[in-house]
Amino acid sequence: MQDSYIHKGLRKQLVKLLQNKGITDQRILDGFERIPRHFFIDQAFAEWAYKDVPFKIDADQTISQPYTVAFMTHLLDVKIGDKILEIGTGSGFQAALLAFMGAKTYTIERQEALYIKTGKLLHKLGFDQIRLLLGDGFEGSPRFAPFDKIIVTAGAESVPQKLLEQLAVGGRMIIPVGDHNDVLKMKRITKTSPNSFSEENFGNFKFVPFLPGVERMKPQ
Ligand code: SAH
Repeated sequence: MQDSYIHKGLRKQLVKLLQNKGITDQRILDGFERIPRHFFIDQAFAEWAYKDVPFKIDADQTISQPYTVAFMTHLLDVKIGDKILEIGTGSGFQAALLAFMGAKTYTIERQEALYIKTGKLLHKLGFDQIRLLLGDGFEGSPRFAPFDKIIVTAGAESVPQKLLEQLAVGGRMIIPVGDHNDVLKMKRITKTSPNSFSEENFGNFKFVPFLPGVERMKPQ
């Protein structure tokens, strides 16, 4: 794996594009400029990492479109030291961005093959502070709750109750909700007291589905 001046140039262009689309948070832009996004996809397609499109990774999953990652991270309003739970580790890029921005990052993946592969990559890139968990995101992580922020990177049909419970009071969750076959609404849910929540909606997005249960690796 190498990170050349060509990749760095492509990253600068991607940062400009995100700025033109309205992303102004400097720490998010710094993350896109510094994290070698092409390491998170198949090396044969490296330059695709810097186009503003979603892209296929292993196990029939996708690395989200850069703008979507940047926009959700903006909605999350990451503060240094925030304890953040991500549902849907996938390629690991979103988790790397959160850790880069100074969050204590926990991330759950339901597919064992991705969990293992992404764990190795994040280790290789020096992101050892990220806690990777193999599990069903519907359950969240009672062991590490409460979280200041929760970000769900798969499309849910409804907001999982257990995730609402695991949010700290004053905390917020970003989650795309709706019917998978259709576009999903990006929601920001703020926990205003132990039992009350406020909700805002931010446009339409496409996501791979939020699926129940853990998928183990097939024996070789
Ligand atoms: N955040 C990722 C994008 C992931 S795509 C990135 O930066 O690359 C969505 C991921 O959510 C897939 O890897 C999928 O396997 C996972 N997923 C779907 N349902 C899940 C669940 N219930 N629990 C945990 N992960 C889930």
